[in-house]
Amino acid sequence: MTTTSGQLAGATALITGAGSGIGLACARALTRGGAKVHLVDRDEQACRDAAENVGGVPHAVDLAEPRATETLPHEVDVLVNNAGFQHLAPIHEFPADRFRAMHEVMVTAPFLLIRRCLPHMRDRGWGRIVNVSSVHGHRASPDKSAYVAAKHALEGLNKVAALEGAEYGVTSNCVAPGYVRTALVEGQVQAQADSRGIASDKVLDEVFLKRTAIKRLIEPDEIAAVVTWLCGPGSDYVTGTSIPVDGAWTAQ
Ligand code: NAD
Repeated sequence: MTTTSGQLAGATALITGAGSGIGLACARALTRGGAKVHLVDRDEQACRDAAENVGGVPHAVDLAEPRATETLPHEVDVLVNNAGFQHLAPIHEFPADRFRAMHEVMVTAPFLLIRRCLPHMRDRGWGRIVNVSSVHGHRASPDKSAYVAAKHALEGLNKVAALEGAEYGVTSNCVAPGYVRTALVEGQVQAQADSRGIASDKVLDEVFLKRTAIKRLIEPDEIAAVVTWLCGPGSDYVTGTSIPVDGAWTAQ
């Protein structure tokens, strides 16, 4: 799947967490497809650099702030809810404010952005909502209570958006990656090494790739390619679903 140049000409896209990793790869791919791209990230410098890199519009916004989404554009044809972060701790030690913040960013902000952008998509008779979920939207792992709960909630929100958008030409889908080569995974390697008492160089083989049939990390561009396909011609009938990009992690 590659971006057909110009397939999104005239479309406006908004991507959260676009300052790095999967979000930045999506910003590049959708720009290549011809979309005007708004990049949202809490990291002001990363957001500015990424926007300059792709020729998009930066919005340095912290989506954990309750009214943050109100400052963002709403005349948006393609919405990619991607911002997220991880925190590892067993439930009995998990900081409650961290749990709440993860839900603000990974569930409430996607809801508020869909709510904000849907009227324009409905008026136009076309829209694409892509929610970057995870294998953890389908399966659980220890120490990831907030992340697993938030991604399962995002999967539910996605289904409702698909049902409500269908008659207006609006699709909503999740993309559910396994382990992608980004800062989010790099940050987990040391945390997993510490909690499991193994060397960090063993974490990749023994933890991250243990359940994966394809023994390598996914590249951010591979996720962006699926997001782009969901936004292009030929995927009109694909909605309310979640596409695993996980090297068969969830197959077993
Ligand atoms: P990343 O850390 O490279 O990028 C995430 C971006 O989101 C960062 O630029 C960060 O600044 C931004 N962000 C975080 N909190 C924010 C907030 N409160 N407001 C605005 N921006 C915020 O990570 P990534 O791997 O590219 O993750 C992107 C998405 O992909 C996340 O939702 C993550 O859960 C999901 N995902 C990642 C993996 C993986 O292995 N990397 C696997 C499955 C799902």
